[in-house]
Amino acid sequence: MFDLRDLYQEVILDHNKRPRNFGQLARPDRSAEGYNPLCGDRLTLQIEFDGDVIRDVAFDGSGCAISKASASLMTESVKGKTLDEVRALFEKFQAMVTADAEVEPDADALGKLSVFAGVRAYPARVKCAVLAWHTLRSAVEGADDVATTE
Ligand code: ZN
Repeated sequence: MFDLRDLYQEVILDHNKRPRNFGQLARPDRSAEGYNPLCGDRLTLQIEFDGDVIRDVAFDGSGCAISKASASLMTESVKGKTLDEVRALFEKFQAMVTADAEVEPDADALGKLSVFAGVRAYPARVKCAVLAWHTLRSAVEGADDVATTE
């Protein structure tokens, strides 16, 4: 049987060690900051749009391995998608990480993000995993406040 927890650990380690889209964009259209006070994770997210498509996205900041790996995978997943697609993905991701342990993740819709179902075994870490997504939403909506997981 496919062991979600092993795969989860592997992906977290990999993306923590080599985060994708880490750094800053030359000409971002939008940016937002996110903060998870429970763990101390902080990140800044920058987005460049092409119409309603996310052409490029980058993140920066410091936090635990889960928040960083989640931001890394999130940026990979949303690049090239329309805002409607990104909103749908956000909802699926949020629903997955807060679902009961026995609920199978929707791997067709979530792709690599489905490994984050593994975070359900560590409820205190769910907020670390959703921080990047909350920050993305606040960047897309152009909110000036810092996005928090509270
Ligand atoms: Zn954290």
